[in-house]
Amino acid sequence: MWRVLFWFKRDLRTRDNRALYEAASRASELIPVFVIDEEILGKLRIDKGDERLNFLCDALRHLSKEIRLYVFYGRTCEVFEQLLDRHKVDAVFTAKPLTWDGEERCAEVEALCKESGVKYVSVRDNLLVDVGSIAGGGNFSSFYRRWLRMVDDRILPEFRVDKVPSLDEPGFEEACRRVGAEPPKFWSVRGCLERLEGFDFGSYARFRDFPGVDGSSRLSPAIRLGVVSIREVYRVSKGSPEFVRQLAWREYYYFLKEKFPWMKDLELKYWMRGIEWENDPSLVKAFMEGRTGYPIVDAGVRQLKTEKWVHNRVRLILASFLAKDLLVDWRVGERFFREHLIDYDQVLNVGNWQWASSVGVDPLYLRVFNPISQSRRYDPDCRYVRKYLPELEGLSCEAVHDPLKWRIEGYCEPVVDHYQRVKRFKELASRRKR
Ligand SMILES: Cc1cc2nc3c(=O)[nH]c(=O)nc-3n(C[C@H](O)[C@H](O)[C@H](O)COP(=O)(O)OP(=O)(O)OC[C@H]3O[C@@H](n4cnc5c(N)ncnc54)[C@H](O)[C@@H]3O)c2cc1C
Repeated sequence: MWRVLFWFKRDLRTRDNRALYEAASRASELIPVFVIDEEILGKLRIDKGDERLNFLCDALRHLSKEIRLYVFYGRTCEVFEQLLDRHKVDAVFTAKPLTWDGEERCAEVEALCKESGVKYVSVRDNLLVDVGSIAGGGNFSSFYRRWLRMVDDRILPEFRVDKVPSLDEPGFEEACRRVGAEPPKFWSVRGCLERLEGFDFGSYARFRDFPGVDGSSRLSPAIRLGVVSIREVYRVSKGSPEFVRQLAWREYYYFLKEKFPWMKDLELKYWMRGIEWENDPSLVKAFMEGRTGYPIVDAGVRQLKTEKWVHNRVRLILASFLAKDLLVDWRVGERFFREHLIDYDQVLNVGNWQWASSVGVDPLYLRVFNPISQSRRYDPDCRYVRKYLPELEGLSCEAVHDPLKWRIEGYCEPVVDHYQRVKRFKELASRRKR
């Protein structure tokens, strides 16, 4: 039996936590730790009072009710150096990382363990299928067929972690106070757990695409931090094939990352590399400030900035608009989402930005989301736009949908003409194809 240090990362739960289960079954003593990494906060531009920090600390508070958790603030490697020195552990257990940055961070800790003669054990979790074992490349449909056959939704038996020593180390309160976390406004663990229990998965397929309706699960922040087990999410939602399909999309991007690790920086469609993006700073600024003059786009940016989350349909419209209407490199948008999204995941964000910019795995050559027809179709009563742009309250819905046809007094004019710009985008793309 070992003295084990258990490193929580994006698996902030004790229920059905495979790495924790493995660690607990090998440990005579187990020290659970979480590091609020200052480099990650810097990279995501998370500051005091940011909802992402508030939600993280809420998750740490929640976890601390289940297990005596030690929480540190600093650089992961430096924290580990001190912990290994102070506590003389035999092994470090943790979940296998899913993203490129996560892998880098884990590799550093693993190297440190090696230097100190400490075993480092990483356990696969937070996926329904070991995507690395799926053969071949393949489009989503063929991946999905194989994925469905391989789903492993076995839930672990309840287990107790009762061998945690009492140490003179900080808990979540001290660390969270230090980084300036506040009570969350929009996202809480309790809210997510209630959502999982109460969500109507039966109506998901009908309503999931309408941002003005509360029809998608809004579970992505909880899935991202692992406050719920993906197997439990799958089991609860099994009756909704459309929902399960979305869980498969999540795993498809991790599968692509395994096959094509370079997709982090490079377009999956090789003929779309080196496209001559215009990257006009004034258009980028208008987009990021939610002043493009296209209400559905501006409402999306406002939602992103206030709630740190955006409905999937609107994410698609935003990404398509930035790349195909503003002719801005998808990486700029990817960074913008990175700096705001509460469910930000490096692999899912890169994969989706590539898809929506037609440089990734979308099998269609050039798919364009027309902000006017998308607004008409998916926000027919303008409920979504009006929620985030209350200044458009008195206006007819048709004027809200089509700012090219109807000039809206007191609201910014469209920064570009959608139809002209998309023509230009197609020209630029076809130059690469030749
Ligand atoms: C440009 C762009 C960037 C995105 N960046 C992220 C990101 O950083 N992190 C993230 O979790 N999702 C990302 N998504 C995917 C998707 O928008 C969100 O997962 C979804 O909106 C979350 O809301 P929900 O939980 O209500 O989803 P639901 O519709 O209820 O779906 C259930 C779950 O399935 C998964 N899922 C659904 N759609 C996708 C998808 N397209 N790709 C991967 N997983 C999916 C999520 O885990 C989600 O919680 C992005 C999509 C786009 C178009």
